[in-house]
Amino acid sequence: MDSRYDVVIIGGGLGGLLSGVLLAKEGMKVCLLEKDKQLGGCLQTFSLHKKVFDSCVHYIGGLGEGHTLHSIFRYVGIMDKLHLKAFDTNGFDRIAFGNDETEYPQATGKENFTEQLARYFPREKDALEQYVRTVSQAGDHFPLYRLRAGSPEEKSAVSGWGLVDTLNSITSNARLRQVLAGNNLLYAGEAGKTPFYLHALVLESYIHSAHKIVPGSSQLSKFLWQELQQHGAEVHRNTEIVKLVEENGELRYAESAAGERYYGKHFVANLHPEALLGMLESKLVRPAYRNRIKGLEQTISTFMLNLVLAPGTVPLRRYNLYWNAAEDSWQAVHYQPQEWPANYALFFTEDEHNPGYAESLSILAYMHYDEVARWAHTHNHTGHKEDRGEEYADFKARRSERLLNKVLERVPELKGNIVAQSAASPLTYRDYTATPKGSLYGILKDVNKPAETTIATRTRIPNLLLTGQNVNLHGVLGVSITAIATCAELVGMEHLLHKITLNRPVGR
Ligand SMILES: Cc1cc2nc3c(=O)[nH]c(=O)nc-3n(C[C@H](O)[C@H](O)[C@H](O)COP(=O)(O)OP(=O)(O)OC[C@H]3O[C@@H](n4cnc5c(N)ncnc54)[C@H](O)[C@@H]3O)c2cc1C
Repeated sequence: MDSRYDVVIIGGGLGGLLSGVLLAKEGMKVCLLEKDKQLGGCLQTFSLHKKVFDSCVHYIGGLGEGHTLHSIFRYVGIMDKLHLKAFDTNGFDRIAFGNDETEYPQATGKENFTEQLARYFPREKDALEQYVRTVSQAGDHFPLYRLRAGSPEEKSAVSGWGLVDTLNSITSNARLRQVLAGNNLLYAGEAGKTPFYLHALVLESYIHSAHKIVPGSSQLSKFLWQELQQHGAEVHRNTEIVKLVEENGELRYAESAAGERYYGKHFVANLHPEALLGMLESKLVRPAYRNRIKGLEQTISTFMLNLVLAPGTVPLRRYNLYWNAAEDSWQAVHYQPQEWPANYALFFTEDEHNPGYAESLSILAYMHYDEVARWAHTHNHTGHKEDRGEEYADFKARRSERLLNKVLERVPELKGNIVAQSAASPLTYRDYTATPKGSLYGILKDVNKPAETTIATRTRIPNLLLTGQNVNLHGVLGVSITAIATCAELVGMEHLLHKITLNRPVGR
């Protein structure tokens, strides 16, 4: 066997980088291949008018001491290096509807979460307490989220709970239900489809602690890259893999667009399964499986408007604002183009030179891929620059204006104080991360079809594993947990968890 590497990792998003560090720390010779110049996938940042913008990750749950994510990042050597900024603990997120001026807080800490919302819903204190308990209960059934090995049966006890049904069983107060689910953009929730556990695992982490990485989420990829180098791993950027070749039942090599071949004993794909299957030459993967993956529904995509603000003009909000046009936040995902924007989320960044003021604002709103499908033949990212044409530029400009006008109704102080702006569409996300249709979080989880919409870390090719947001859960926490599940296939779960939890501070 002429394998040069113990493990070849395809894709340098968080899933690939973290898997790489976990395996390199075990003494494995790791090679990580990333198509873009900048590592990180969704962790990438860019600058506009000398201000740093996050392309995706604006805040992270569970980085506070005592949380699982904190332990994982500490184990891989990056926790102490991250420069974190906490949000307002009495409301890291605020939820608003239509023209109603009320902004309902979602606060840090289980008791505080209940207390802050009970001010708006004084008769619902019991329901709020039950909600917080139910969120924890669901989390307890996902052993890896508690850094335990556990068994698959544990999950099945709660994985059939639908989000809407569970919220309905907790309270009959329609507005409170909507407030609890009002930031469903965090998981691209769909009524009747989204499982409760998805909501619970995401929200639980933010209720524990909510932080922004300063100056941007690319700090995560930078520090993971440094760890990879320290542990002797090779990282090849600008290396797009176009072919994966299986021979005699095992994956032999990954081939880049430039024709380089990377041989490995094991392979980890940090890719969307549809993209992976598109480059995999193997009869072991049956057409029925390929069709199943191709037929899966993806979470909706997004339009992002980034604004640079005039110094000292727009007071900082130390929270993220989630606005839903309708009283029923579940409608946003089904918007018609003429109704757009049906929702938005606002992410402010503080100006270090003018404390208390924002230097920039990112606005995120759902957008269906169909709205930009007519330009789908164009491809534009750092490794492949292409002008998508005037019509596309015009579309982006008109949508930016529409979105900004909507935001101005709630944040009028932005008027006249925007120095520069740029926008990203579903095509931008498709091209930068190779996620089909620029989907926000990959494959849509459907509580009615758990088996079909859940992707395993193992594949039919024994030395090919999967990692990343399409396996289990999306988000920085979800992808980190999945990296453990993936690497455990190679080094053993008990072994890995023992190392991660060794000397772990108590206090969950
Ligand atoms: C707009 C948006 C906002 C978000 N906000 C948050 C947030 O605030 N907090 C949070 O926790 N999560 C957030 N998320 C989710 C989170 O960013 C993702 O779930 C997570 O970063 C995905 O990591 P990944 O490693 O699975 O995939 P990716 O980050 O998509 O990484 C995949 C990598 O593979 C590379 N690749 C693809 N094809 C090839 C190929 N053929 N050859 C080589 N390399 C290839 C890509 O370039 C990319 O670097 C957000 C996501 C989006 C889209």
